[in-house]
Order: sequence, then structure tokens, then C-alpha cells
Amino acid sequence: MADILDDRRKGLEEEYFHRQNKEAIEKLREKMKVAEEAKAAGTSSMKCPRCDGALRERKVEEVSTNTCEKCGGVWLDSGELETLINREKETGGWFSRLWTQAD
Ligand SMILES: [Zn+2]
Repeated sequence: MADILDDRRKGLEEEYFHRQNKEAIEKLREKMKVAEEAKAAGTSSMKCPRCDGALRERKVEEVSTNTCEKCGGVWLDSGELETLINREKETGGWFSRLWTQAD
């Protein structure tokens, strides 16, 4: 009798985890679909952290930045600011002076 209950419990557990996995996979697929559609449309799937506007990808010095269509804010991924600074340092533009002159 205990074995039957154990089997039933195991079955319920497996069913629960199977359902959880299925839901997680479906959510991931939906996210990937949104990201693919946004990429095809030239926009980012992310929203502006400041105003919730749509972010559009824009290449600056080979670095893809995300510019908000609503407030005009420019957002960079990790390492992109450093890449921009290094590119500017090589050419000695205004952007690098902005970061190297403290006063
Ligand atoms: Zn914005």
C-alpha cells in the first residue's frame, strides 16, 4: 500500500516538474520570438529603463548602442562604453577628452 502511494506521489512530482519545464520552455520561446521580431524590425526587445519607450539599435563606431525613440536616451551594454572610449583615444576625438579631463 505504501508503495502504491509512493508511486502516486512520484508520478505527481514528475507531472509537476514536467509542467514547470514545459511552461519555462514556452516562456523562453516567447522571449526568443519577441527578440527575433525586434531584431528583424531593427529595434531592441528591451524597453527604455527611464521612460519605457522602445529602444532602437544604432551603430556608433562599430558599437551597437540602443537609443530610446521616446526620450532619446542612449544605452550601452557592458564593455561598450570602454570600446567607444578606446576607439576615440586612438583617434583623439572629443569623446575621450570628456573622460580623461577631470577638471
Ligand atoms: Zn526613454
